Amino acid sequence: MNVRPSSGNGQGAAVVVIGGGVTGLSAAWWLARGGVDVLVIDKGIVGWEASGRNGGGAAHSFSPLFAEEQRLWPLMDEMLGYPTEYRPKRIRVALTEAQLDYYCRVADLATSQGFRWEKLDRKQLKELAALVTDEAVGGVLLHFGGQANPQRTVQAFAWALQDLGGRIQQHTTVTEMRRKGGKVTEIVTDRGTFGCDHVVIAAGPQTGLLAQMIGIDLPLAFARLEQIVTEPVPLMKMGWVDGNGLYGRQTLRGNLAFGGGPHDWIEIDGMRAPFASSTFVMRHLAKRVAQLFPYAAQARVIRSWAGLVEVTPDGRPVIDRLSDPDNVVLATMASVGFGLCPATGHAIQQLVVDGKCTFADLSGFNLERLRNVAPGWREKRGWLPPVSAA
Ligand SMILES: Cc1cc2nc3c(=O)[nH]c(=O)nc-3n(C[C@H](O)[C@H](O)[C@H](O)COP(=O)(O)OP(=O)(O)OC[C@H]3O[C@@H](n4cnc5c(N)ncnc54)[C@H](O)[C@@H]3O)c2cc1C
Repeated sequence: MNVRPSSGNGQGAAVVVIGGGVTGLSAAWWLARGGVDVLVIDKGIVGWEASGRNGGGAAHSFSPLFAEEQRLWPLMDEMLGYPTEYRPKRIRVALTEAQLDYYCRVADLATSQGFRWEKLDRKQLKELAALVTDEAVGGVLLHFGGQANPQRTVQAFAWALQDLGGRIQQHTTVTEMRRKGGKVTEIVTDRGTFGCDHVVIAAGPQTGLLAQMIGIDLPLAFARLEQIVTEPVPLMKMGWVDGNGLYGRQTLRGNLAFGGGPHDWIEIDGMRAPFASSTFVMRHLAKRVAQLFPYAAQARVIRSWAGLVEVTPDGRPVIDRLSDPDNVVLATMASVGFGLCPATGHAIQQLVVDGKCTFADLSGFNLERLRNVAPGWREKRGWLPPVSAA
């Protein structure tokens, strides 16, 4: 592939990545490592959307990218040259025998992929996670999965990309993509036009709108998820300890950072996503955190926020190099994009440079599978905002 800008007002790059979340930044970093001239364009600042607001979990053991994700995370601080605060393993706390059975069954499924886990009795659980309630009947220790700090990770990718000569253009909204001869050749923004040889669209909830600009239909639904953070409490031996309907982690400083609950479905119909602030859901999260960690129940909630995610009709990501236009890779991560990001970026780099991913079978992530999704699929699933009582 070419590694020099090919067109457009003197600005541009061999690869223009639309979206400075973890997916776009990781893809750009992998490309820059291979010597490719790459430019990331974001309508806001890097990581301002879901990538900087998520739970930090790396736990999607059923993804074809999980093995690569697990290989890469322990290497990322060294490869990037900046800290991500990655820590391996995960504990799931069971408050009932039925929950414990369920967690064991789910953990067992991962053994077919070579991952290890063990059942913990109450005493073993408390040794690893001293703040957990005495009401817990036990738990599972997963020797796979893990967690990292989302904001540190975004920053690490951005700095590492720039160290390699990659460029990031913030506060720049893509409004149009121009095609010539079966390829996208120009990216039009509110701050000028950028020539390109290849494009990666990794724009989170807006990926569908950007795909529409080149005549591609990508059905997506949108949801708001919320998180709370407490003031620091004494450190547990294990950082990722969850249960009671929550997912989350204890930060290195001791804060409990947790999210959970069902998806709060919303509408997004423009480039400007609705402002994602927290709601009364934070009170439910705080209650559940206090039930799971009664020894931290007096800790004050010091921050809360919401973030937006996109979901495909079958709940799986799309990571695909299109056939027409044939120089575009589409990546939408269906709510599981943080943990997978080291591997996703690697896969996208291979799709751009070689047209195929060599380390994972991505056939289940192609766009073709969504071609015949019937109109009204969101209504059928009930993935719609609640009807206002007014
Ligand atoms: C509260 C919460 C908790 C979560 N917990 C986890 C978890 O524990 N583990 C996990 O793996 N995942 C989790 N997720 C999901 C995860 O955060 C996302 O899947 C992931 O961050 C998606 O990254 P992305 O780069 O693909 O998209 P985003 O982070 O959404 O980034 C897309 C970027 O594209 C830019 N953009 C959009 N349109 C345009 C345009 N027209 N022009 C220029 N730029 C544009 C946006 O400004 C944005 O910066 C959570 C999400 C939330 C909200």
